[in-house]
Amino acid sequence: MQVRLRPPRLELESKQHYVREGGSGVVVFRVGAETTISGVRAGTVESLSYPIPGGGTGERFALFAIPWELSDSAQVRLFAEDEAGNRVEQPFVDLFKKSPPREDTLELTDAFLEKVVPAIASATPGFDASGTLLEQYLRINGELRRSVLAQIAALARDSEPRVLWQGAFQQMPNTQRRAGFAENRTYLYQGRVVDHQTHLGLDLASTERAPVPAANSGKVVFAGWLSIYGNVVILDHGYGLLSLYGHMSAVDVNVGETVSRAQRLGTSGSTGLAGGDHVHLEIFVQGKSVDPLEWLDEHWIRDNIATKVKLPS
Ligand SMILES: [Zn+2]
Repeated sequence: MQVRLRPPRLELESKQHYVREGGSGVVVFRVGAETTISGVRAGTVESLSYPIPGGGTGERFALFAIPWELSDSAQVRLFAEDEAGNRVEQPFVDLFKKSPPREDTLELTDAFLEKVVPAIASATPGFDASGTLLEQYLRINGELRRSVLAQIAALARDSEPRVLWQGAFQQMPNTQRRAGFAENRTYLYQGRVVDHQTHLGLDLASTERAPVPAANSGKVVFAGWLSIYGNVVILDHGYGLLSLYGHMSAVDVNVGETVSRAQRLGTSGSTGLAGGDHVHLEIFVQGKSVDPLEWLDEHWIRDNIATKVKLPS
């Protein structure tokens, strides 16, 4: 048995880490040969690192997520661990911006429950369809929502160790931004509060059955029915970055296909937990939902990603 008394070596290399609640970031660092696992811990969420292509010995970077529910910057640490489980952590965030809380109230009508509940219940194997429509709805909005998010987190683990995207992510053309990221929703039924959930995407509405383009180039890792999201396409953009397009009426691509930016993925609709026709755009970093607005902003990408790691041009 090998006994290691020294903590693993961990040296921060990048500078100016300005992050926000629910945001993303990149950090570059160097670890010793004894390190088996390293990355960023933000609260209980870990974003793992990758070797820098063409980098020096032990040089790595992590594309990391700051959970929307984390408000304490002291909880964001770089970490490295060796085989024996010795762990070293260090702070690296220079500026932590809080996001203003956003609240919304949704009235659940019988017409809405009749539209969404049987469609999701019948298409979800093993779903407990007992009780009233409201009881079933609460299972869909709670347990099913959590299990789908876990399923997406599993897809992120197989993300390609390559940058598959280029430039800013594109908002679907001619769309208006409706519900935003990390909006706290209170659900009412007949005037009574029945549920609370957090909306983790950006809702984009244009005309009914509008073409839905890829926000950036990538590889299709999911295409089809995914309960609360209805018909969806999920793209892998590499290094744990995924984009999801939800509630589509039709899907035009298949798993394994490579798509270019603006390529048509399908047609907008209102499948899954959607009242009207719109696209729910959600961005995941290593399985955690992050604010899509950063990825839609070329200045943010330039200042926070491109200054730290080399991107394809
Ligand atoms: Zn949405």
